[in-house]
Amino acid sequence: MDLGSALLSAEMALEFLPPELDGQVFLSAAPLVEGAMAAAVQASTGATPELVLAEAQSALNAKASQLGIEIPEFQAGANGAATASDPTAMQISLVVTNRLGLHARPAARFVTTAGKFDADMIVHKGQQAANAKSINQVATLGVRQGDEITVSASGPDAAAALAAIQTLAAENFGDVDDEDAVENKAPVIEQKVASESSGAINGIPASPGVAIGPAALYRPSVPEATAYEADDPAVEWSRLQEAINEAAQEIVALQKASAKQVGQAKADIFEAHALIIRDPALSDAVRQRLMNSHENAEWAWQQEISVLASAYREMDDPYMQARATDVEDVGRRVLQKLLGEQPPSMEFAEPSILVAADLNPSDTAQLDPERVLGICTEFGGATAHSAILARALGIPAIVGLGHAIWTIAEGQTIAVDGESGLCWTHPDNGQLAELETQREKWQADRQQAKIAGQGTAVTWDGYSIEVAANVGSPNDITRALEFGAEGVGLFRTEFLFMDREEAPSEEEQYEAYHQATSELNGAPLIIRTLDVGGDKPLPYLDLGEEANPFLGWRGIRFCLDRPQIFKPQLRAILRASVTDDGRPANVKVMFPMIGTVSEVRAARRMLLEAQEELRAIGLPFDERMEVGIMVEVPSAVAVADQLAREVDFFSIGTNDLTQYTMAADRGNSKVASLVNALQPSVLRLIKQTAEAGRTAGIWTGMCGELAGNSLATPLLLGLGVTELSMSAPSIPQVKETVRNLTMPEAQRIAHEALEMATADDVVAYLQGLQTG
Ligand code: PEP
Ligand code: MG
Repeated sequence: MDLGSALLSAEMALEFLPPELDGQVFLSAAPLVEGAMAAAVQASTGATPELVLAEAQSALNAKASQLGIEIPEFQAGANGAATASDPTAMQISLVVTNRLGLHARPAARFVTTAGKFDADMIVHKGQQAANAKSINQVATLGVRQGDEITVSASGPDAAAALAAIQTLAAENFGDVDDEDAVENKAPVIEQKVASESSGAINGIPASPGVAIGPAALYRPSVPEATAYEADDPAVEWSRLQEAINEAAQEIVALQKASAKQVGQAKADIFEAHALIIRDPALSDAVRQRLMNSHENAEWAWQQEISVLASAYREMDDPYMQARATDVEDVGRRVLQKLLGEQPPSMEFAEPSILVAADLNPSDTAQLDPERVLGICTEFGGATAHSAILARALGIPAIVGLGHAIWTIAEGQTIAVDGESGLCWTHPDNGQLAELETQREKWQADRQQAKIAGQGTAVTWDGYSIEVAANVGSPNDITRALEFGAEGVGLFRTEFLFMDREEAPSEEEQYEAYHQATSELNGAPLIIRTLDVGGDKPLPYLDLGEEANPFLGWRGIRFCLDRPQIFKPQLRAILRASVTDDGRPANVKVMFPMIGTVSEVRAARRMLLEAQEELRAIGLPFDERMEVGIMVEVPSAVAVADQLAREVDFFSIGTNDLTQYTMAADRGNSKVASLVNALQPSVLRLIKQTAEAGRTAGIWTGMCGELAGNSLATPLLLGLGVTELSMSAPSIPQVKETVRNLTMPEAQRIAHEALEMATADDVVAYLQGLQTG
């Protein structure tokens, strides 16, 4: 403000304003130019009027220090917790009645509700005050059940804001107490409840075996920022804003993905992350550092994150203390963006049990079975690709353990039983001894199994079943052969495309396929063409955002639209179909996600074109290479008779076939009981497929996870499946089961199982056969 002219002082000017504006205009003693600049910058961040005033006022500091005078502090609290009491503010008092008080989720709901209004709102507990729109300030007030709080609001919609808070309080801040009790004390999966005395948490068994060892938390630590004096605070501020925006988008994507996997309620933790990252008090505090001390964005951000994390850690309530990790998680995400860093790799100093929120297929593919003793994840389902890969690598794994896994500390000894889905976070000596015995037995059985796996799989009455392995890279083949694989029934080529900046060239792919044929030395190799999309995204392929990726542009649909990706792969496969001395190498090609006859025809046309191209440059290939399709989309089963006339073989992909038949996402632990390939509906589709194949004179195999479930082996043989491809460690058991069967017996079992009305009945029936 200027002091005013002879005619009109600033104060007098205020009096001329209509009352609705009057309350919103403040006078500031700040220097006109610097003060206005500082206020404008602060206001552009969406800050409260108190903060804008404080910022303008702080522009006086330089003058004051130059003149050696003191100026009075403006009344705005540090970190934007407005402490000035506005006499016109409205206020309400509330007693917090929900059992856990204003802990993370109720605090998030409180702040989200407050954030919907323009009013400036302050919440008081005793002498402490917090900005009602700051998740961190509200949460760290430490409001517990029975505490009285006062909420004051000023601004045009103050009354509505307070009414909304009152309603929220009447609804216990959205808390269903039972639900929260479960969240804090019990695991996410309700189907099996770990006994209290065992001290174990319970998840979805994903890969059998027992592991004991130190926990390695894959929760990438906060990257290190270094301090330096920044040239231009405005540049630092905009870098920070950009990083925050990018990180916030990631959090929203994570929230969506986890809502699908574990349900909205459990995914709400990311809502808290979204509020933390957008917390006005946090960004105000960082901004002060940038503007006043010329700190660089990374340093200022890291400092404020650690102040905040310490504030949570100092709280009495252990649940709130644990929220410090959420703050650090958010802090790390933003810092990585600022520093342009990628999340760190998964290399461990000593063999450990990996504890992670979730693992994408490329994370799991990088794992070294020598160093990763076991895997525990917060999210995920049993047929998610991470689970499949863990099985293929022979690493005991439990998925869908819920947020409870974050009570595990780095290096803490834990134990995992991938068979029962139990994870002991604090095993006592007795439990450790017992688990150690189980672990030794498991390892001895595996050794034994490898030996038993070496023979052929021929039924008692002489029918030969081909038992092959599913692999993700040629490097998996040696291990598969050790377990007794008679070939590769599914080479998931998408793994060659992961963890890279661009698609592998034809030459690189040829090398990989050729390496595979060399290792297999004439044993069959079924190469599945690229199956991206669904839960296998590839950033550089620009698949775009899809509302339903599993129903979207994936597998063959994508490849047919992108010949520049598909053709080099087909040429590489064709080139690998002959050995170095020109003999057929027993390679077969298989197209994924086929749903129509037209798709097969289009894919075959491309294959013909690829052959033409190779002929033109004189490169040899196997002219008689077999061409097959995966039967994993229900529409393919419906027209299996027509499809069978177009191809040389079928391979049933029960993972997708089940998810599409049951309309249940294979990665969502909430619907895990539906994603069961032993559902009678799925069994009927298997039967229909095998029958169509037999009528047309082609063979039907299976490469979905059901193929490796020895419980189902009699049933599958009886249904007419003649090739089974699976994770290598399952091979010995499946072979053993085949050897103990006769074909009429298998057919009788299939017939009876097909009469069952529920998956549970089928399982009980098959288990009954095993035990007796
Ligand atoms: C399947 O869907 O059963 C299958 C084997 O393919 P993937 O698991 O790679 O989708
Ligand atoms: Mg599939």
